[in-house]
Amino acid sequence: MSKNKKKKEKVRIAFFDFADCEGCQLQVTYLNEAFLGVLEHCDIVNFREAISERSDDYDIAFVEGSITREHDAERLKEIRKNAKILIAYGACACIGGINGLRKKYTADEAINIVYAGRKDPIEAGEPKPVHDVVKVDHYIHGCPTSNDELVEALKGILLGKGYTPPDYAVCVECKLKENVCLFEKGQVCMGPVTRAGCNSWCPSWGNTCYGCRGLLPNPAKEGQMDVLEKNGYTINELEQKFDLYNACKLEADKNE
Ligand code: SF4
Ligand code: SF4
Ligand code: SF4
Repeated sequence: MSKNKKKKEKVRIAFFDFADCEGCQLQVTYLNEAFLGVLEHCDIVNFREAISERSDDYDIAFVEGSITREHDAERLKEIRKNAKILIAYGACACIGGINGLRKKYTADEAINIVYAGRKDPIEAGEPKPVHDVVKVDHYIHGCPTSNDELVEALKGILLGKGYTPPDYAVCVECKLKENVCLFEKGQVCMGPVTRAGCNSWCPSWGNTCYGCRGLLPNPAKEGQMDVLEKNGYTINELEQKFDLYNACKLEADKNE
C-alpha cells in the first residue's frame, strides 16, 4: 500500500466554531498521550485555532459554539452536509450554554449591556444549541470539555460503537470520590440535577457545580427541593444557578 493511500484511509476530522469563547477547542491543543494515540488514526484537516489547512473533505465535524445568526445556521447546514458524523462539542453547542443568558433580555438590552455606547449595528440573535438547527450524532458536554472524555468518545466513534455521555448525576461521581457535600458547607450545588462525566470536577476542588454539562434527562427535582429546604435555601437561589448554563432549555420548556 502506498504512503498516500494509507494517509487517505485515516478518518478526517474538522473543527468549527460559532458563538463561543473557543475554550473547548483550546482544550484540544493541550494534547495528552492518550489523545496522541487516537490521533494516529486521524487527520485533522480543518482547525482554525491550530492549523492553516482548510478542507471541506472530512468525516467527523466537531462543532463548537451556539448558533445565533441566520448565516451561521446556513454555514452549519453545509457542515452537516459534508460530515458523516457531527459532534456537538462543549456546552455552547450542546445546550446553548452561557450564551443562553441572552434570552433573558431583548436584543437592544443585551447589546447595551455588553457593548455599552457602541453605535454601529450589531447582530444579537437568539442563541440556539446545534441540535435546534441540524441533526447531532454525538454530544461531548462541558465548559470547557475534558480531553479524557474527548478521547473516550473518539475511540468509541472510530470503533463504530458511538459515544453516549453518562445520564446520572454529578453527585454520583462526587460521592465516589468521597468529597464532603458542599451543601454541608452552606453552599448551593447543582450536582444533583446535572449530567455527570466531569468526574465531579468542581466539587472535588471545593467549588459548586454550575450545571455546565446540562440538566439530566430526568432530574430528581423533588429530591433537589428537599435538599434545598433542609439547608434553608429558596428556589430563586437555585434558579439563578440553573440559568447560567441552562437558560436555552429552561426558556424552551416555559414555551412548550
Ligand atoms: S462551552 Fe465554555 S469553554 Fe467551550 S466554547 Fe463555550 S464558553 Fe467556551
Ligand atoms: S457537593 Fe454537589 S455534587 Fe457533590 S454530593 Fe454535594 S450536591 Fe452533589
Ligand atoms: S462539576 Fe458541574 S460545573 Fe463543574 S465541570 Fe462538572 S458539570 Fe460542569
